[in-house]
Amino acid sequence: MSIKDLKDTFLIDRLINEAAKDKESASYLFYGDKRVDLLFYALEFSKLFLCENFKDNDYCGVCNVCKSVDNYSYPDIEIINKDEQGVKIDDVREIILNAIESPYKAKKKVYILNGVEKLRKESANALLKIIEEPPKNLYFILLSKSLNIIPTIKSRVMTFVIKPLDIEALEVEKEIYYFFDGNVKDIELWKKKKQDLSCGQLSLEEIFRNIEVYYIYNELTELLMRVQAEKLFNDKKEFMSKPDFKIFKDYIKELLEIYEDTEDSFDVEKLKNNDDFALHLQAVNLYLKEIYLIIKIKYIQSIMMLGKNYKYYKSSEKIEVNQRVNDIFTKNKKDLKNFLDRLIFIKKNKIKNLKKIIEIKNSIDNNVNIRALISNFFMFYE
Ligand SMILES: [Zn+2]
Repeated sequence: MSIKDLKDTFLIDRLINEAAKDKESASYLFYGDKRVDLLFYALEFSKLFLCENFKDNDYCGVCNVCKSVDNYSYPDIEIINKDEQGVKIDDVREIILNAIESPYKAKKKVYILNGVEKLRKESANALLKIIEEPPKNLYFILLSKSLNIIPTIKSRVMTFVIKPLDIEALEVEKEIYYFFDGNVKDIELWKKKKQDLSCGQLSLEEIFRNIEVYYIYNELTELLMRVQAEKLFNDKKEFMSKPDFKIFKDYIKELLEIYEDTEDSFDVEKLKNNDDFALHLQAVNLYLKEIYLIIKIKYIQSIMMLGKNYKYYKSSEKIEVNQRVNDIFTKNKKDLKNFLDRLIFIKKNKIKNLKKIIEIKNSIDNNVNIRALISNFFMFYE
């Protein structure tokens, strides 16, 4: 990819100009509504100012930095509150502690803070000082889905408004655009491979298998981000004795069993049989990148099928749907919201109780009883 793939010329020019200034430190706010994958933009921007061979107003895409940012394994980008459960005051304290050391480190460090619109006063106040004048080599990118954030924060950062791209800008057919919900990254990836997006009938079992795999995939990439691949190479022994490593292995095994047909880029058998998974981490990263779109497409197809077929299911099947959705999503409100959003979108002109289910979906954040919310949702989803 290239920064120019983002298509929005005005935005790209501003991002490039800013990166070219080669500032010692800085704080930014990226704002975009829920149709915009803000993290994706933040990472693209980070590549601009971190790339080892920035030239012709673009990152190179092939240096170690570019590659590791793409693989989510760049050790000096830290993503905070990725799951949008809220920025904890302890997170902020840790940032501040690290920041005190940062001028003595030669490397640039980027903090990406997700969900700033929901920042509590306590955390916001702690953050203010550090984002106003970050120490040398420290960069903050705050991500917000609303411009209605604490004014004292807004006045201390440079804001980039990121608009979702429309069908014309992305140069795709309407069906493709809606299939990927306008997600720029997914659409650009799809344009390279042009996979078939239609699918035959799927059983309930297959539907939930695909949905589950998508979440295993997300958790795995998140885990990789958390353990930070490069550090892991240096610190193999320590990592392998930690519980993370066991989860990591289980995830990989599970993914490999399902997607063995896409294994051409590396030796799957070796991966499966070798306990020293850390050694194969780069291969794993490559593999994950390769299967991303397949997994995403299957996930979307599965939700579409679930939405279309739901009213024809027998009551025993409906109970099963309820149970499986509970099992997968009770712990993750953000994913549940995305999942329900998709379900609503699929049938938005055909549901009698549209207003009601939107209301139920919107109450996720304030609702403690997620199990009841899910069954309530499906009661009206006919
Ligand atoms: Zn580069």
